[in-house]
Amino acid sequence: MNCKIDEQLLEGLRKIIPSERILTNEPMARHTTFRIGGIADAFVLPSSTEELTQILKFAKESDIPVTILGNGSNVLVLDGGIRGLVISFGKPFSNIERDGTRIKAGAGATLGTVSLFAASHSLSGLEFAVGIPGSLGGAVFMNAGAYDGEMSQVVQAVTAVTPDGEIVRYQKDEMEFGYRNSAFQKNSRIICEIELELMEGDPGAIQEKMTDYTRRRMEKQPLDKPSAGSTFKRPPGLFAGTLIDETGLKGFSVGDAQVSEKHAGFVVNLGNATAADVLDVISEVKKRVQARTGVLLEPEVRIIGEKN
Ligand SMILES: Cc1cc2nc3c(=O)[nH]c(=O)nc-3n(C[C@H](O)[C@H](O)[C@H](O)COP(=O)(O)OP(=O)(O)OC[C@H]3O[C@@H](n4cnc5c(N)ncnc54)[C@H](O)[C@@H]3O)c2cc1C
Repeated sequence: MNCKIDEQLLEGLRKIIPSERILTNEPMARHTTFRIGGIADAFVLPSSTEELTQILKFAKESDIPVTILGNGSNVLVLDGGIRGLVISFGKPFSNIERDGTRIKAGAGATLGTVSLFAASHSLSGLEFAVGIPGSLGGAVFMNAGAYDGEMSQVVQAVTAVTPDGEIVRYQKDEMEFGYRNSAFQKNSRIICEIELELMEGDPGAIQEKMTDYTRRRMEKQPLDKPSAGSTFKRPPGLFAGTLIDETGLKGFSVGDAQVSEKHAGFVVNLGNATAADVLDVISEVKKRVQARTGVLLEPEVRIIGEKN
């Protein structure tokens, strides 16, 4: 793999996408909810699926690694940053349309916006998503969920692009949804457009549910501090936060990375945490929880990039 993007490669890239949508040496801390992450060689924002496919073909021919980023709300980007291209989806991939009980939306639309759009059209099924700060593409990739819902219950079809730039369509039963898991975690496809099937609902009941979920989040989660949400997956039949709390690790910190005092399931950035600090907290939490309970916690947060 060609891991350095030199001037010649950048010139090639500029023939596909204007230079104002190619950010070189871009700090990833600007693009993650953890506010942590080293520098990406080039951060690119395609404006259409056509442009995306051309970028992918160019990257393949030039042997440049590609990383996909949604809203950066479930990633820990390491301090050495990301070599090659980081492709992210902004406004051009944020369209949302309704057709009967179906919503079609771009991968870059935020989950919050899509759930509010659904509510404003009296469509029920996406209330659970109101406080999840991801993009729709990232939510499908992760099979994000909360309270009584998860993406697998509403996703009907996905249009994606292969690393060769070929457009492929997936139906629900081909997406292998599991707990915080989907086929996209194995197949390197890039999700571009999503179709959701919802139900006609009562506007008052939809609003009431969304208000309740928002209130519960505000009460329980450390939303005033940068984080990537739940650090660990829920072990079967248990809660990671409870195990961590019972192990006496609330407030445990390394540098500015801390097991939240409000919710032990979250690691928060108190200001200047590095990814190395977060990794140390994760590893210590895993070690101590396993020693006390025998349960091996598995990170939900996806760790990407290079160590310093
Ligand atoms: C305060 C807070 C609360 C949260 N609460 C919840 C919750 O209740 N439930 C829950 O499930 N999660 C929760 N999360 C985690 C996070 O919001 C979700 O996992 C979300 O779905 C991630 O979406 P994203 O766009 O930010 O993805 P990113 O973090 O940008 O990326 C996550 C992964 O998805 C891949 N990816 C992103 N977009 C695409 C695409 N278009 N095509 C292919 N791959 C893609 C990336 O390569 C990466 O591997 C929370 C996070 C925070 C900060």
